[in-house]
Amino acid sequence: MTTATHPHMPLGRGAPEALEVTEAAREAEWTLPSFVADLFMGRLRTDLVMPFPEQDEADRREGEAFLGKMTTFLKEHVDPDEIDRTGELPAHVIQGLARLGCFGMKIPKAYGGLGLSHTNYNRVIQLLGSYCGSTAVWLSAHQSIGAPQPLMLFGTEEQKRKYLPRLAQGTISAFALTEPGVGSDPAHMLTTATPVDGGEAYVLNGEKLWCTNGPVAEVVVVMARTPSVTVGGKERTQITAFLVEKRMSGFEVAHRCDFMGLKGIQNGVLKFRNVRVPKDHIIWGLGQGLKLALITLNAGRIAIPAGSVGTTKRCLQIMRTWAKERKQWGGPIGKHEAVAVKIGEMAATTFAMEALVDLASALVDRKSGDIGLEAAMAKLYCSEACWRIVDDAVQIRGGRGYETARSLRARGEAAIPVERMLRDTRINLIIEGTSQIMRLFIAREALDAHMRLVGRLIGPGSLAAKLQTALAAAARYAIWYPRQWVYWAGWPRHARFGRLASHLRFVERTSHRLARMLFHAAVRHQTGLAKRQQLLGRLVDVGSELLVMTAACAKAQALVRLQPSEQSPVDLADVFCRLARRRVAANLRGVRRNEDRATYRIAQEVLSGRFTWLESGIV
Ligand SMILES: Cc1cc2nc3c(=O)[nH]c(=O)nc-3n(C[C@H](O)[C@H](O)[C@H](O)COP(=O)(O)OP(=O)(O)OC[C@H]3O[C@@H](n4cnc5c(N)ncnc54)[C@H](O)[C@@H]3O)c2cc1C
Repeated sequence: MTTATHPHMPLGRGAPEALEVTEAAREAEWTLPSFVADLFMGRLRTDLVMPFPEQDEADRREGEAFLGKMTTFLKEHVDPDEIDRTGELPAHVIQGLARLGCFGMKIPKAYGGLGLSHTNYNRVIQLLGSYCGSTAVWLSAHQSIGAPQPLMLFGTEEQKRKYLPRLAQGTISAFALTEPGVGSDPAHMLTTATPVDGGEAYVLNGEKLWCTNGPVAEVVVVMARTPSVTVGGKERTQITAFLVEKRMSGFEVAHRCDFMGLKGIQNGVLKFRNVRVPKDHIIWGLGQGLKLALITLNAGRIAIPAGSVGTTKRCLQIMRTWAKERKQWGGPIGKHEAVAVKIGEMAATTFAMEALVDLASALVDRKSGDIGLEAAMAKLYCSEACWRIVDDAVQIRGGRGYETARSLRARGEAAIPVERMLRDTRINLIIEGTSQIMRLFIAREALDAHMRLVGRLIGPGSLAAKLQTALAAAARYAIWYPRQWVYWAGWPRHARFGRLASHLRFVERTSHRLARMLFHAAVRHQTGLAKRQQLLGRLVDVGSELLVMTAACAKAQALVRLQPSEQSPVDLADVFCRLARRRVAANLRGVRRNEDRATYRIAQEVLSGRFTWLESGIV
């Protein structure tokens, strides 16, 4: 449910310097298998995600026990509407959460934390997402991206011993990357860290914007520019991560920001004026800051989809009662087709979203694959689906959907908070990488293999080297390319999935088609493909649907195997897949036939002022 932009600005129109810095922060090669990376290459590696990962029994019990305590605490001590009204999380709530160990959920037991698995941690975030967005953000900004995660991944043993026990007990932390001038494109950041005393310390100067938990944090991970280095004869910007403590002189909280929703979060502008930070406060090493942010976000990013699942489950619960009780035009509104279809879609999508989050969390716990793409897709898909679902819930509640819970309660009705949920949810499409940036990031990774080749062929280099590259490519593509046309994805493939088999066959066929289309796009547009954002976005959306369909089918099959008489998971997965296939078809059609160029032209003319006449008649 939290914050922080994605450190890539891939495939954009940014300055070459920014691209070089962000490219250097990428993982150069996939060292571990990735289901999504393979999907984009026309390979359906079901072995990476099936059988659907089942949570280990001991881990499940541990999770259940903690969720039970959390539920009781939330019901007894946390009033989400009061937090929304006052804009404050009361001190007794923060202390109670700290006593429960909530600030150290992911911190290993050896360092004083609860040592929960990612699966259990994300279940807690889901629980919070169903109840109070502000509380969810307090905890997840601290743990998904704040100091614990980068320290656990990249901290020295000394740093871990010094900070993790404190952080587990409730010392709040934050992550500061964004600045007024840099959001999606942090490579251009202006905050500097200048070495002093022969490199024994760094002096930090600059300003960070929208830092969640920033106003109350004792420890902040701050990204800053350190002196550039020369790589291959060229100067390269270095961004480094520092552990900055509030007690350090020159650290100032300049402003607490107020937003449309999430009224209870603490988020603000932080200023650093000649803050002296000892060199042993650097995490991972000089110049590793953007890479650190990226890797931290890979696992941390699943918190947003987990919270989104909680929110959509709550919507479903509200709809179940409301659409039965509310009668208009001679019957319950849930019997009217226009409402019923929305509720059906809500249920099927919630099931699929949860399958995706469960799968992604299990993949993080297993540590056997690269989950960067899966996490990015989960964030993109679930934040957008959740927004649509909450919007539908508001619509189905009618006028009451627009009324605050407080006002509903005051006039004697049930205080159903869909209005607050809508306000709290909107930010998820912006933080930790906007939807647009997520699509570009996913496309960048999906096209990596093809684009590296194109780059070598048309980039600088001798003719002999290019010829060699062309021959090697010809050999590779001579095998790969025909395979994208000639394959068998008909019956009896995936027959063990019964009613869902045809959907998995569709996934397999479409994966080949997607791979072909990406390859054709790379050959046709070459490096200019970076600017075809709509084309790439459609192909990414197709890939996302295929991933979610696979997760939904796999989970449904696993559930039915446990309880064969209960077919409802299959019903939900089936409807989800049918809806997803329609969206896939629309996106694939859109690749060939669209109005992108015409609308782009209009947009440029809007910007140049040609349509100012259209703005007449307004205040
Ligand atoms: C409530 C809240 C909490 C936050 N918490 C934190 C935090 O804890 N730490 C932190 O560091 N930051 C935090 N942020 C910042 C957040 O991560 C940024 O708002 C986000 O990354 C987007 O940056 P921006 O707002 O500057 O948008 P911009 O980067 O200015 O983008 C504006 C619009 O342009 C689009 N756009 C930009 N570049 C491209 C491109 N190349 N191609 C296509 N479209 C593009 C974007 O998608 C967006 O729609 C928070 C923000 C909010 C509002």
